[in-house]
Amino acid sequence: MEDTILVVNCGSSSLKVALFDINLRQLTSALAERIGKSDAFARITGHSRDIPLQSGAGHRDALQALVSAFRELSLLTSPPVAIGHRVVHGGETFREAALIDDSVRQAIEDCAGLAPLHNPVNLTGIDATTELFPDVPQVAVFDTAFHQTLPRHAYLYALPYRFYRDWGVRRYGFHGTSHNFMATETARLLGKAPGETSIISAHLGNGCSITAIRDGISVDTSMGLTPLEGLVMGTRSGDIDPGLFEFLETKDISAESLHRILNNESGLLGLSEKTNDMRTLSELADQGHEPSIVAIEVFCFRLARYISAMMASLRELDALVFTGGIGENSAMVRAKTLSHLHLTGFAIAPSLNRQHGNKTDGRINREDSRFKVMVIPTNEERVIAREALETSGTVSHS
Ligand code: ADP
Repeated sequence: MEDTILVVNCGSSSLKVALFDINLRQLTSALAERIGKSDAFARITGHSRDIPLQSGAGHRDALQALVSAFRELSLLTSPPVAIGHRVVHGGETFREAALIDDSVRQAIEDCAGLAPLHNPVNLTGIDATTELFPDVPQVAVFDTAFHQTLPRHAYLYALPYRFYRDWGVRRYGFHGTSHNFMATETARLLGKAPGETSIISAHLGNGCSITAIRDGISVDTSMGLTPLEGLVMGTRSGDIDPGLFEFLETKDISAESLHRILNNESGLLGLSEKTNDMRTLSELADQGHEPSIVAIEVFCFRLARYISAMMASLRELDALVFTGGIGENSAMVRAKTLSHLHLTGFAIAPSLNRQHGNKTDGRINREDSRFKVMVIPTNEERVIAREALETSGTVSHS
């Protein structure tokens, strides 16, 4: 019987599950999509056959179906030794991962006002695994926790102070698990102690964020009160002028429609009027599709601006690090972005960039570059598994 750690990531309409051994080697992963819809389905990576889900299946049903499938395939022969849950918002309550008990569960519920689409489904996941494995320690790993080290000047908005005091309106930052992983992984690859390593970490997936990490801790980040602020993303606008709200009122666009537009119809999709998928956009741009060219240009320029902005928080820079589906795979985005930053002295080697980093440390910069530039695949599930193991007090056999 193998000791395993189960990692559960409940998104608003999706569920990702991964299984690790106690040495943090990934054993398998699975995905359920279109949760709550008539065509919900689940699939285990490497298995071509879908796992049937009933029409309208919720997160709890999908989780039960996937755990049953893991058991049938002998991927899970005994209860896991620990379960790690990705929880989106920990507010100012959680500075690190937490072993889930009644008071932690309540605190996650209390933060739901800050992440109404996410924290409630995260709790559904926690409740479902509590039913399935009542005796297994469960750990909540928060997207926001890594950014709780942000200094006041970086997290406060210039709004009436009572918004912060009374309602907690401030910048929280997200993707903390990934940025945390980038910090420790870059330190490892550079042979430095994490507490002595300073990087700019660019996580570019469907959601995109960038973080300045000084001596191992987060000191500035592009996402704010919600994951809408900052960079251009797949379907999210990132930064906009708040004056837009008043203007759009004159066009009869309600607050509810605007929320949908900014979250689901903007970003790469909004600009290109075609797709939120960078790979498809690159192909379209190569064929001369002007709106796709424009979308990529805006994406890269905003990213370049943010890279320079992050420098305001650092005393030195060990490396600029790219990760996420776009960051890891798009040599074009990396090259275009850095081409804006003549003054900062990043010089990338086209051949290393094309191969997405050299084999030893993911480096893509030329030897004469003022700063290192690296490509490092992120692994949020693995960080959650590690935190689940450490926070639950489960002793590693490694
Ligand atoms: P999520 O945030 O949903 O986890 P990912 O990190 O998987 O997303 O990133 C998805 C993005 O990565 C998409 O825009 C996709 O087109 C892009 N991507 C994946 N592979 C490539 C590639 N080879 N070239 C360019 N973009 C890619």
